[in-house]
Amino acid sequence: MTKYAVPEPKIQTLPIDGKNEVFPVRRVYCIGRNYAAHAVEMGYDPEKEDPFFFQKNPDNLNVTGQFPYPPKSSDVHHEAELLVALKSGGVNIEYEDALSHVYGYALCLDMTRRDRQGEMKKAGRPWEIGKAFEHSAPCGPLHLATDVGHLTEGNIALTVNGELRQEGNLNQMIWKIPDMIVYLSTYYELAPGDVILSGTPSGVGAVQKGDVMRISLEPLGHLEVSVT
Ligand code: MN
Repeated sequence: MTKYAVPEPKIQTLPIDGKNEVFPVRRVYCIGRNYAAHAVEMGYDPEKEDPFFFQKNPDNLNVTGQFPYPPKSSDVHHEAELLVALKSGGVNIEYEDALSHVYGYALCLDMTRRDRQGEMKKAGRPWEIGKAFEHSAPCGPLHLATDVGHLTEGNIALTVNGELRQEGNLNQMIWKIPDMIVYLSTYYELAPGDVILSGTPSGVGAVQKGDVMRISLEPLGHLEVSVT
């Protein structure tokens, strides 16, 4: 029996729709500017960009349905995203094999301290303070790819207090799910438990305490998250 010198960190898990098992999370990769209209709203030309990724921490995932407004920001934005969970991995994965590594899909929010992220971008510094903070990735349950199929299209939308803020279609993703898996596997060894946040459509904006965010995507249903 290993004896830990300090209390051992908890393994972050995601619930799985229709199962008693949970999905253990190893790493959280997030793509930036994966929908052309969102790249444009952030001031970039999507035609001229390679994909780029940042990471959140596994323990930033949050399945409570509540998003505590973080300290040190007054401009916290919602980004509605599809989460892709891997059941296997490797390096230099072939495009044709990429989807065979996908376990399932979930709804997710990439909550962002936009003010802090903007400062980091300007200074050429890493984004963690803007992206990888406590509770910053509210998620719904995973849906097995064997149940819902592999997701290549479908309307993804986000409302705040019932008002439509974000809307797009998965088929507008610049880098599709297999592209992201292939690209990441050239830089990292992917492994079971890795998840990928696949980017957000346009319409990102600020939330306030008391707001209720509702993200929806056929065929995953919807996820409601209250800002507390
Ligand atoms: Mn994002």
